[in-house]
Amino acid sequence: MSLTLVVFLWARPSPAHRAELAASPPKLMKDRVIKTEEEWKKMLTSEQFNVTRRKGTERAFTGAYWDNHAAGTYRCVCCGLDLFGAADKFDSGTGWPSFTQPVAAENVATRPDRGLFMTRTEVLCPRCDAHLGHVFEDGPAPTGLRYCMNSAALKFVKKAEEEK
Ligand SMILES: [Zn+2]
Repeated sequence: MSLTLVVFLWARPSPAHRAELAASPPKLMKDRVIKTEEEWKKMLTSEQFNVTRRKGTERAFTGAYWDNHAAGTYRCVCCGLDLFGAADKFDSGTGWPSFTQPVAAENVATRPDRGLFMTRTEVLCPRCDAHLGHVFEDGPAPTGLRYCMNSAALKFVKKAEEEK
């Protein structure tokens, strides 16, 4: 048996460990962006602040990106981290920009959001803790997931401008 295979088998989480992982707090990045409320207020519009730092939700069909079909990348409006690619965006009919998956698993964090009538899964920026939206399990292929985001939490960068 090769060493790689041995390490792989050894490193695989047991079922109990997987449950533990699922219950653990959101995995956060190393190069964290931490600012005070006042600092965020200065750099964001009131709607961006309300959504990302106060867990607000923009009204459906009012945001900048629900109907955006251009090629490019959606970044965190607070810290600029790449979150979603236009190729993974789909028309959900909800009036919010919707994606089947993030650019990479580690580029979003999730945690349970227990409301009065239902428990949803909140989606956050792993670098600056911005509230982005929620993820639901009623999305299309290939993941079956629907990342329902707020335009106000995103900054779209067109493909041609991405290199700048
Ligand atoms: Zn961020």
